[in-house]
Amino acid sequence: MCSQKYPLIDAHCHLTWKSFNKDLDDVIKRARQNNLKAIITVSATINEAEKNLEICRKYKNYIFPCMGLIPRLYFEKKSIELLKQKIEKYQNEIVGIGEVGLDFYWVKERAARSELVKKFQELLPFIKKMGIPLVIHARDAEHKTMKILRKQNFDDYKVLFHCYAGDTNTIKEIVSNTCWSFTVPTSVTYRGANINAARHIPLDRMMLETDAPFLAPNRNIKRNEPKNIAISVKKVAELKKITVDRVANETTKNAINFFNLKI
Ligand SMILES: [Zn+2]
Repeated sequence: MCSQKYPLIDAHCHLTWKSFNKDLDDVIKRARQNNLKAIITVSATINEAEKNLEICRKYKNYIFPCMGLIPRLYFEKKSIELLKQKIEKYQNEIVGIGEVGLDFYWVKERAARSELVKKFQELLPFIKKMGIPLVIHARDAEHKTMKILRKQNFDDYKVLFHCYAGDTNTIKEIVSNTCWSFTVPTSVTYRGANINAARHIPLDRMMLETDAPFLAPNRNIKRNEPKNIAISVKKVAELKKITVDRVANETTKNAINFFNLKI
């Protein structure tokens, strides 16, 4: 028996997280050993943006950066302004803008939600002007986020709904737009919302992600890491009743196309 060597890509993780400080080299080594051809690492705060770029420079042509700001930090003074400045400065280095979007899980109060929506809406024209693929963080606000994107004419823009855990109808609406896609996280091994999404997202719109160090494929793993895509790819194949090779090849191709990866 020969072992299969299918290509994999982790389309979203956070390698700036402090739990990777000590052994990032080993983490990357294990990713390569598990057939990962590329890793997308995301800065979700202003403070880690440069550190994220540094990591990508060190592992050039293997790790690629996205630059964003998680929604609940929109309330911090000048945070959106600073994000815009950094995106402009590093526009030739980043492969995606995000994660940005709406989070009604963390932000529950009505006035605060309205403020969040307002800030997100104001950010979108800038993103469109930059022309860099958009990575969306939408939690308990998937449909709302999609509607805003439609309203602001993002139909022909590359949009990725990261770690999608919303309802099935919204999946159908998102799929009806040919430029929009999703990632399925490693928690698809046990989490109902991710399992449902993996079943309904068509393979030609799907990428795989770990969201490491979060969303590990089982609760005993304290720190998730990119190599665990090798676990979730099997689960997705099982859910979709197709071969692991096919899931790996398609999701890898989708990530390369979406982020225009030169690998
Ligand atoms: Zn994330």
